[in-house]
Amino acid sequence: MEQGDQLSDSCAPIVIETHVKPNRDRLQAFPLGGDEVFHTGCVFFSVMGFVEQINSIASVSRHAGKRTGPSRPAPVLWTFEETGFLSFTKKLSVCIPVVTIRGLMVVAPKIRGFICTTAHPEGCAKHVAEQIAVVKNRGPIANGPKKVLVIGSSTGYGLASRIAAAFGSNAATVGVFFERASEGDRTATAGWYNSAAFEREAAAAGLYARSFNGDAFSDAMKTEVIAAIKEDLGQVDCVIYSLASPRRTHPKTEEVLKSVLKPIGESYTNKNLNTGNGVVNEITIDPANEDEIAQTVAVMGGEDWEMWMEALASANALAPGVQTLAYSYIGPVLTWPIYKNGTIGQAKLDLERAQKALDQKLAPIGGKAWISVNKALVTQASSAIPVVPLYISLLYKIMKAAGSHEECIEQMDRLFRDRLTSGNPQPDEAGRIRLDDWEMAESVQSLISERWDAVTTENFAELADFAGYQANFLKLFGFGLDGVDYSADTDVAVSVPSIA
Ligand code: NAD
Repeated sequence: MEQGDQLSDSCAPIVIETHVKPNRDRLQAFPLGGDEVFHTGCVFFSVMGFVEQINSIASVSRHAGKRTGPSRPAPVLWTFEETGFLSFTKKLSVCIPVVTIRGLMVVAPKIRGFICTTAHPEGCAKHVAEQIAVVKNRGPIANGPKKVLVIGSSTGYGLASRIAAAFGSNAATVGVFFERASEGDRTATAGWYNSAAFEREAAAAGLYARSFNGDAFSDAMKTEVIAAIKEDLGQVDCVIYSLASPRRTHPKTEEVLKSVLKPIGESYTNKNLNTGNGVVNEITIDPANEDEIAQTVAVMGGEDWEMWMEALASANALAPGVQTLAYSYIGPVLTWPIYKNGTIGQAKLDLERAQKALDQKLAPIGGKAWISVNKALVTQASSAIPVVPLYISLLYKIMKAAGSHEECIEQMDRLFRDRLTSGNPQPDEAGRIRLDDWEMAESVQSLISERWDAVTTENFAELADFAGYQANFLKLFGFGLDGVDYSADTDVAVSVPSIA
């Protein structure tokens, strides 16, 4: 094909020969060697510095051509089928294909310990759609927030908060998260697909949604997000702080701080669940030292929440009457050594300190800071905590039988609908909102302690809802949702509209 050639509306396969190997860095979808076939997407051919884009390709395959001499590399043949549009303005035989191909592939769960390293884009979208439906089915939330910033908005409680605000009270939402886009045949993280789906649904509903992917702990992210808020929304009337992170680079000292999940004072031994095979075993965790406690508080405590609120206030980005919330957990006595009285509990105490300080700072503009104590649920963060998955499996069985089981979305809907906007948030003696009220009900907890003492590997299936735990875990990554064909090829290269 020569410079100036134009081919359009062609249905015949078009073969292009190139003599330079693809740039491997940019061509992860095209591992060298063997024939490859890809479907749909965009192919960019960089031709001596110019980039030509080929759109609407139904199928493109790459084959090794015949060598024309012993010292010459084999040419590469690209066959384009059913191209809707193909246009070249340069001689292609000397070009370097710089290709962004959308790899269609079957995506299956790959579980490593308490994490799944793959995510299903359509499954995640379905999960988001199901959560939206829960909120919509309950009807509009009167007097709900209208301009909401959610820090940690891509999964778990943060995503559910974003959905409840957007689809309950038509809120414009700004979301901040730390996720990974797909690269070649490596899927994006679930939070990336969730956020892409959320934005598409928000756009379809005529709702403003803008997202930021990066380190929420950094000054740079705060500056960027607040500039966008100023530009697009002026101010926000609700700020949700829902980060769960194993580490934080402190923005002032550059120190990398790590959080640990350990008891304090003495080691802790209790029953534990191997979530991979359903074996109930025992775990002993050594106590944290002072430095580990301090680092956990620095990562999961209230300092960063205060920094966000300070930065928003200085930019005059907080509306009069603004409400801000951070999430905490208390749980039953049996988990206290690893949770409430452990390193994470110290961080949550610091969150309560920050809440009181913020409450005072917001008072002049009629604002309010809240701690909401939420229910124990399967999320990416909670599945990493020792002992907790066994507790959650027992809890699910009891709460489902009692008809009081909730997922993140029901919890966050209840937060906005029944507590924040009802005029009666029902704070406890420490001023906290308690969405763990149904979990902590005496009838539930007495059964938990009975079954906790009794549970073994043998009776685990009978006493606990392991199937429910596993199903929820897989759902976090978009697997096991009704109506998704998991045997079909899916396009893993999904963009988040406001980030693309
Ligand atoms: P999660 O793992 O589902 O979500 C964490 C969110 O934080 C994600 O959006 C992630 O992208 C984001 N994030 C992490 N590091 C980041 C960074 N450096 N910059 C930007 N974003 C970052 O967690 P979750 O379980 O929903 O937890 C959220 C909060 O709720 C936590 O404070 C947790 O302690 C609390 N909580 C959880 C439970 C539970 O059972 N899961 C119960 C009560 C309270």
